Amino acid sequence: MSEAPLAGQDAAPLAEDLVVLDSVNKHFGALHVLQDINLTIRRGEVVVVIGPSGSGKSTLCRTINRLETIDSGTITIDGEPLPEEGKALARLRADVGMVFQSFNLFAHKTVLQNVMLGQIKVRRRNKAAAAEKARTLLDRVGVADQAEKYPAQLSGGQQQRVAIARALAMEPKVMLFDEPTSALDPEMINEVLEAMQQLAREGMTMVVVTHEMGFARSAANRVVFMADGRIVEEAEPHQFFDNPRSDRAKDFLSKIL
Ligand code: ADP
Ligand code: MG
Repeated sequence: MSEAPLAGQDAAPLAEDLVVLDSVNKHFGALHVLQDINLTIRRGEVVVVIGPSGSGKSTLCRTINRLETIDSGTITIDGEPLPEEGKALARLRADVGMVFQSFNLFAHKTVLQNVMLGQIKVRRRNKAAAAEKARTLLDRVGVADQAEKYPAQLSGGQQQRVAIARALAMEPKVMLFDEPTSALDPEMINEVLEAMQQLAREGMTMVVVTHEMGFARSAANRVVFMADGRIVEEAEPHQFFDNPRSDRAKDFLSKIL
């Protein structure tokens, strides 16, 4: 996996630039939910997005895999503009893995089938190859022994790890995590964060919306702080947490730390 260079921030697009948002704006009616967002995610980089509720973090994630359209600006993934529809959009969705707060597993499919399905439908793998890959990934996130069960028979932490395996099965270029541990009981949070840490160490490019500041400190290359639809501050974690520049960030951190 490639190293994430930290220099060259305002140069022309680089091959290392995997996800690039340029002057992105989005409204929900009168609400200007994303205001002139400029953000570049480099290959292998882990970017943690934090900020108060309602600041636009989920909407930001959802625009990157086009679950939401944008009103102006551009988003490119690996040099390609986001496709509007059809097969190109399905391919994009496979390239951009997403894990939500709610686990979104198919309730009437087994764990193994959940991790096989997209591989067969979108990546056109045969059943045997899909099953083999699914078992490998379930093993990697520590739930190999749950393969034949149904989601409801698993704990929340196990279900979320299955959701991670399911997204990884598509071999995405980037993984988006939108508050993946917020719905979990406290004792299950660490097992999910640990799976994410492992992924980060392996070089996966990740955008992670989270309130887990320990994770942000230890796993992030960069912290992006959002408030009221804007990126207010962007910094390396130690700088952001120990020495935030904006009053908005200072205020937010004083409430949560
Ligand atoms: P966050 O994830 O930071 O809590 P969101 O991106 O979910 O913020 O929401 C940002 C703002 O946009 C909030 O005020 C929210 O109520 C509003 N919003 C989100 N989704 C929709 C929608 N589909 N329609 C209208 N307003 C929305
Ligand atoms: Mg949200």
